[in-house]
Amino acid sequence: MSQSSTAPHILAIDQGTTSSRAIVFDGQMRPTASAQQEFTQIFPADGWVEHDAMEIWRSVLTTAKQAIQNARIGADNIAAIGITNQRETVVVWDRDTGAPIHNAIVWQDRRTAALCDQLKADGKEGMVQAKTGLLLDPYFSGTKLKYILDTVEGARAKAAAGKLAFGTIDTWLVWQLTGGASHVTDVTNASRTLLFNIDTLSWDDELCALLDIPMNILPDVKGNAATFGTTEAKLLGRAIPITGMAGDQQAAGIGQACFEPGMLKSTYGTGCFALMNVGETRAPSHNRLLSTIAYQIDGVTHYALEGSIFMAGATIQWVRDGLKLIEDAADSEALARDANPDSGVYMVPAFVGLGAPYWDADARGAILGLTRDSGIKEIVRAAIESVCYQTCDLMTAMAADRGSQGSAPLRVDGGMVANDWAMQRLADLTGQVVERPKIIETTALGAAYLAALGAELIESKDQVSRDWARDRLFEPQMGADERASRLTGWADAVSRVLTT
Ligand code: ADP
Repeated sequence: MSQSSTAPHILAIDQGTTSSRAIVFDGQMRPTASAQQEFTQIFPADGWVEHDAMEIWRSVLTTAKQAIQNARIGADNIAAIGITNQRETVVVWDRDTGAPIHNAIVWQDRRTAALCDQLKADGKEGMVQAKTGLLLDPYFSGTKLKYILDTVEGARAKAAAGKLAFGTIDTWLVWQLTGGASHVTDVTNASRTLLFNIDTLSWDDELCALLDIPMNILPDVKGNAATFGTTEAKLLGRAIPITGMAGDQQAAGIGQACFEPGMLKSTYGTGCFALMNVGETRAPSHNRLLSTIAYQIDGVTHYALEGSIFMAGATIQWVRDGLKLIEDAADSEALARDANPDSGVYMVPAFVGLGAPYWDADARGAILGLTRDSGIKEIVRAAIESVCYQTCDLMTAMAADRGSQGSAPLRVDGGMVANDWAMQRLADLTGQVVERPKIIETTALGAAYLAALGAELIESKDQVSRDWARDRLFEPQMGADERASRLTGWADAVSRVLTT
């Protein structure tokens, strides 16, 4: 065998909302092989979204084995495993049998909206926001966990007898990988549950009491580079330590080496999630962003401000599959480039409401400013621009929360950033330099680095900053007046769809 194939490799497990992926990284942290598998999306009612937790586990095991095989190495060459995952999704299982007592309730699921409204009406949001940095929204885990305990017959009695375990997907996977030996999570995943105090870094009595959650079902919480457990030897052919873990957006922030306060990354997949590192002191948000944990490495915790947009690449998908204006998402680039630059067409993609900073669940989408000479090109361009404008809104909210416009470049990743026109437009409309890295699989990369840190294969996170390599820089070229007038047009378009 060649030297490179016997050197220590790392397996990153990226368990996403629609598919599970496994990527093998070599000793230089280059991705060398991968495998991916989609799994079933279950929609039991309007606004409800579930996954079969066992199917997720099987897809993870299958892709992990396949990726190792595709890398043409043996399990002996995998020194450590890192896990990153869809956040907030809830699994509850029986500690004796390992069987889930209900389908996983996915982060997108809105069934607990009424409970959240009730808690808000009871004046609880202030306390919740002060402790967790989150808002009372069904998006987060806590109310979903309460729903499972309240609706599954016998669940409360079983929980009281210490027979149930709760976990987000990270916790569920480690439980399975370790044959039930480890019931653990990390601070970033814990910070999305509504049950975790992000100042004391511990599960919170008052929050658990508010949602009626027995604390004996909660996992142990660790930093992001730590020993989470060791896989059962029979699963992958060898007992492999799991030494890195973070929620997907935080893992992307690590893969993008956002370690200094003010550094930020924005991921453009289905939706868009922007995360800005604010340093060791938590920054409360007065602009309806989330205040959350960026990471805890070597005992040092960094906090982040986070903004989520529901429709980013999915807007382009709608143009493709709903309107059938293009065959492939990549076709949007040439059309947008060719559109009339002065068309004045705006698209507000509030298909499922608007996320940060509006949080208007009832808003619905619109295309405005159409004239007789508007056509496919102008609509495609407006779709791409809508993603840029929404990012502008997040950047403005972040600047307001921080008291200054950040000067750090916006580091971008995710499927949509392959679109050069979109990235140039993003720079022009935000007025910020946009930086695209060579490796845009930053989520898995972040998990792999955390695993390398946890296994002491690299010395410090500085290695991530040294390794981070730029593919391309996009500098703002639009004049200030044009930018201001376009942003005014966007604000006007949004105001037409808001319901509150
Ligand atoms: P996810 O991980 O959320 O499934 P990806 O990071 O794989 O998403 O990105 C896929 C999304 O990016 C799709 O919604 C697609 O419409 C969009 N996309 C991919 N390529 C392009 C492109 N060249 N221009 C615009 N959008 C694109």
